[in-house]
Parts: sequence; C-alpha cells; structure tokens
Amino acid sequence: MADDFTHAGYRALLAALQDRDYEAVGYDEALPEARHLILRHDLDMSLQAAEPIAEIEHELGVRAHYFVLVRTEMYNPFSARARASLEKISGLGHAIGLHLDASLCANDPTALDEAAERECRVLEDATRAPVRFISFHRPAEALLGYDKPLAGRRHAYEPRFFEAMGYVSDSRGGWHHGDPLDHDAVQEGRALQLLTHPIWWPGEAIDGPVMKLDRFVSERHDLLRRELAANCEPYRAALAQDIDQ
Ligand SMILES: [Zn+2]
Repeated sequence: MADDFTHAGYRALLAALQDRDYEAVGYDEALPEARHLILRHDLDMSLQAAEPIAEIEHELGVRAHYFVLVRTEMYNPFSARARASLEKISGLGHAIGLHLDASLCANDPTALDEAAERECRVLEDATRAPVRFISFHRPAEALLGYDKPLAGRRHAYEPRFFEAMGYVSDSRGGWHHGDPLDHDAVQEGRALQLLTHPIWWPGEAIDGPVMKLDRFVSERHDLLRRELAANCEPYRAALAQDIDQ
C-alpha cells in the first residue's frame, strides 16, 4: 500500500510507477492505452507545500501539472511569496494551470466559460506565461466527464482524462478510492491521471489530515502576525514586547 503520505512516500510512489514502466507526460501527450502517467496537483491551500513536491519530481526527471486557485481565501497568487513559489515550480519544468472553483457557476455553461477565461487571464498575469489547462475545484457531479473545452483550453475532467484513463486521487488526505498501484489501469498497463494535493504530503509523517491542516493554520497565523508587524507600527511594538517577555 502506498500509504506513506510524506515526501519520501511520494518519491517512492513515483519510483514504483516508474518501475512499472510508467512515463509521466502532459495532458497533451497522454494516450489512454499507453503506460502514461499524468501527474496533477491541485493547490487548494498552499503554494509553498508544492515546492518540495516539484523538486522531487524534477529529481526523478518527471514533469507535472500544478493547478492554482485565483479566488481563494487561502493564498494570493500575486503575493511575493506566491510568485516565488510559482517561479520555482515552473522553473523546474512543470506546467501551471488554473484551478477553477466551478461551484460558483456549475449550472451555467456560458458563465463557466466566461469565468474560466477571466481567471486564466488573471493567472497568466501572475505567472507571465500562457495557461493552457484547467482543473475544477470541488466539481459538481455534472462536470465530471464534461466534454467541452473551457475558454478554448483543455480541462482535467474531459472524458479522455477522466473516463478513458484511470483516475485516482488523494482527496481528504487518503486513498479513499483505492491505492494507485492497485488501480485497474495500472494493473492493465493503461494511462493514469494521478491527482495529489501537496498539503497532504509533508516532509515528515504527521498523523492524519486534521493535524496537517492544524499545522498549516499555525504557520499561516505566524505569517499573518509577521505581516501585521511589518505593516502596522502599534502591532510591531506589541509583538516586540510579547517576544521580550
Ligand atoms: Zn481543489
């Protein structure tokens, strides 16, 4: 079972797929009947958590797709830290795509297309590179297998990627729909779209998804305090006093 949710575990999972002759390719090149592996990461909470994953992939000589939200309370793709993360990830050869919160307009194809176009343009502005692929954040049932492009771009839930190929995800921090190595597609030597969320794969083992998120909250809390101190004198003085005591 590939249930070691750490950097080492992720490296071992990729190595196990490479041992089974899987080749990581992009959405453009993947063929359903080939031993092709699409590595997809949805960045729901943190861009920083993606950096070590991107490095591991680079060390193993594979490329992945990283999907970024532009409408989220979790991060701001225009912040200096976010831009540094995105530059690092793309500098390692990975593709940056849009993670579109489709719940905001799931029942209206025109609104969905317009939102995709608008958000791709925003992300392109942040990354200064074309955004060619989209994945949905928490898609409604109706969008699984949605067979049209969005804003002229391909997306991860097209039947080709979601039905003709194997699909497995670490949603909620576990392999709740089965271990990727046991997936029928891998057993039969067919293509697999492997969705992982870097937040679930920390450097060292942390017991369960809630503790991982609690650590994320604590890091964000510290960051927010530092930013407040950097931008607001009374807060800076109070924090300095706090630290002195
Ligand atoms: Zn998501």
